Amino acid sequence: MTAHQERKHALLSASGSGRWLRCTPSARLEEQFPDTTSEAASEGTLAHELAELKLRHYADTTNFTRRKYAAAVNKLKKDPQWKDEMDRYTEEYLDYIRTAALAMKCTPSVRVEERVRFARYTHEDPGNQVEGSGIADCILVGGDTIHVIDLKYGKGVQVDADHNPQLMLYALGAYDACRILYPVTKVKVTIVQPRLDSISEWECSLEDLLKFGEYVKQRAALAWEGKGPYNPGTDTCRFCRAKAVCRARADHNTKLAFGIGEMPPTITAEEVGERLLALEDIAKYQKDLQEWALGQCLAGKEVPGWKAVEGRGSRDWTDMDAAFETLQGSGIDGALLYERRPLTLAQVEKVVGKKEFQETVGEYVTKKPGKPALVQEKDERPAITNKITAGEAFKEEI
Ligand code: SF4
Repeated sequence: MTAHQERKHALLSASGSGRWLRCTPSARLEEQFPDTTSEAASEGTLAHELAELKLRHYADTTNFTRRKYAAAVNKLKKDPQWKDEMDRYTEEYLDYIRTAALAMKCTPSVRVEERVRFARYTHEDPGNQVEGSGIADCILVGGDTIHVIDLKYGKGVQVDADHNPQLMLYALGAYDACRILYPVTKVKVTIVQPRLDSISEWECSLEDLLKFGEYVKQRAALAWEGKGPYNPGTDTCRFCRAKAVCRARADHNTKLAFGIGEMPPTITAEEVGERLLALEDIAKYQKDLQEWALGQCLAGKEVPGWKAVEGRGSRDWTDMDAAFETLQGSGIDGALLYERRPLTLAQVEKVVGKKEFQETVGEYVTKKPGKPALVQEKDERPAITNKITAGEAFKEEI
């Protein structure tokens, strides 16, 4: 088992801090539910291992030589989860770190996969090495700046670096470890999500980071005791292990869905906006409940009114080559059995690589506008409308 696979979660973990800081009793409630690792997560583990090797080779070429690096990568390539695209995606992460390091006023110290301790803000437990600590993917420390960089390999949810509590906790730990040697006044955090083509950066002063540390102390004291009010919300509950059966979340969503009460015959635009937000969580909640109930039924437990059945099956060849040979042997024209289809534009770009794709066939690519979509106001894309502007109307009349 590798160091990445071995990582255990603390009760007040940095990765779960977005949840337990907002909903303090969730930390203790979650203890009752198993931590399940999905295939996507183990794929992420492998990509992180590759990224770590690249970073170690970059940070210390003398000790971690090209030969050692190549041997370690070849070992990773034997893993059944290996995909060639991991090489390209982790290269983007390394590129970001190289550029960030070069942009710093002094040559930074590059800390790779370093355990940072922030227990004095969360919970001190001398016998437990995992509690109050976490492993940061990369930390650059140089001059007056600490820069925490995190690789997220998933492509489900885009994560924002702005006030990201996980990285702020790592920054607190890094600051405590290096404050004697470095006159730190600035803190920068970055989340690199190469599969979403996203790099999110955020910067704050040391003063603001320490204020956050004080806030963490108060919330962590409640969370450790399992105290404080439950605080359900779409982002808060997303990764909570109790999310399917948590009563607070159930009551919250039931109230959202049914607690409408007396209403005028039509609803206002404000209410539409509010409802759409509320319904997003209700839809997720319904999915979580369905998954949980299916698991119960499959385990032979009863969920009144529901049962598990076999889904619609599909047919597949036991030996496609033999079947096609037999068909052709019986006189069926082989050309009828195959179709030749071009790859999609995105698939070709993946095969060729972004840079080469742009250089060789970029001129043949045109971008059609996408179908209008409704998103939340916080989305970074500019708003569009069908309304004709005065300029366009004037142009038409000419
Ligand atoms: S499901 Fe949501 S409300 Fe319930 S404990 Fe978890 S985070 Fe808190």
